[in-house]
Amino acid sequence: MKVPFLDLQAHHAPHLPEFEEAIRGVISSGAFAGGPYVAAFEKEFAAFCHTPCAVGVGNGTDALWLPLLAFGVGPGDEVITSPATFMATAEAVSYCGAKPIFVDIDERTYTIDPSLIEAAITPRTRAIIPVHLHGQIADMDPILAIARRHGLFVIEDSCQAHGADYRGRRAGTMGDAGAFSFYPGKNLGAFGEAGAVVTHNQEVADRIMTLREHGQSRKYYHSMVGWNCRMDGIQAAVLSIKLRHLEHSNRRRREHAALYNQLLAEVEEVIRPTEAASGHSVYHIYAVRVADRDGVMSRLGEAGIGTGIHYPVPVHLQEAYRDLGYREGDLPIAERVSSELLSLPMFPELTEDQIRYVVDQLKAAVRTPVAA
Ligand SMILES: *Cc1c(COP(=O)(O)O)cnc(C)c1O
Repeated sequence: MKVPFLDLQAHHAPHLPEFEEAIRGVISSGAFAGGPYVAAFEKEFAAFCHTPCAVGVGNGTDALWLPLLAFGVGPGDEVITSPATFMATAEAVSYCGAKPIFVDIDERTYTIDPSLIEAAITPRTRAIIPVHLHGQIADMDPILAIARRHGLFVIEDSCQAHGADYRGRRAGTMGDAGAFSFYPGKNLGAFGEAGAVVTHNQEVADRIMTLREHGQSRKYYHSMVGWNCRMDGIQAAVLSIKLRHLEHSNRRRREHAALYNQLLAEVEEVIRPTEAASGHSVYHIYAVRVADRDGVMSRLGEAGIGTGIHYPVPVHLQEAYRDLGYREGDLPIAERVSSELLSLPMFPELTEDQIRYVVDQLKAAVRTPVAA
């Protein structure tokens, strides 16, 4: 049996006629960059997130960067974030000329450990970017309390958590802004690059709308130096269709995770993901931890199973950030977890037979003695 890591064709096949019709609509309207399709999607996505404002941008990295700019983060400032994330979280900080400061993660949820944040705050700290890794929301209440106490902005990296919730609130809506990516493989994915910022603050939304379009307050009148971070009309039209199916897709992912958990319950060589009691993950990634990760990965590959590693090197140890001066051992939990995590196939169209096959093969792989 073959089980791909991700199957976008299976995900799109039932809706192809709808996509074609929507794209034809964009072609005949000419609204390719920004425009009414983007405005319509923004409304729908804000409603989905249970928040008043959404601003469509070019990708998830823009969606992290523009709020930092809107909050005035710049050279000399520091922004606290998690080392267990995709590089883009920290890059957005670097683009502002500010310095990312990494705080270790909780060993159970792989999200930033709130009890370690205060020790990392300095007079230069301006913001915290918690990362809702693998679809699970970070422990936001203590993070928000710390931010209030120290006058810091909070930008939620929700690029993996569309629709996840935490104590009844949705991803991206608890801090000052939330950043979403619609990269094709995300829970809500475009047919190319796209992203969005959500916020409950209309002034912040207005500022980001100005920044995304060359600092224009109206056409050819520039009140500030901005950038080109517009969303494409075609992406917005596709996303509007896919958004209608997102709740269903997220439910399917949660069902798959429950089945994996049940089948792996007795397999003591495998550490399953932990879902905190505070909320519901949307399982962008279903990752287990195993001792001989690379060996298990290649044995699953031989059995026709696609897997991934999210992520093999924690951001504080990336070569690009050598200048920040972090050393191996500085953030021990993130470092250990990054050497053990293995992402199993996870997408809404996965079947029960496929999950059972993956689990059988995983059991065999972890129980094969490692060649010495
Ligand atoms: C995907 C992702 C991003 C970046 O999004 P792009 O759309 O690729 O720019 C940022 N942070 C996290 C956690 C992501 O998973």
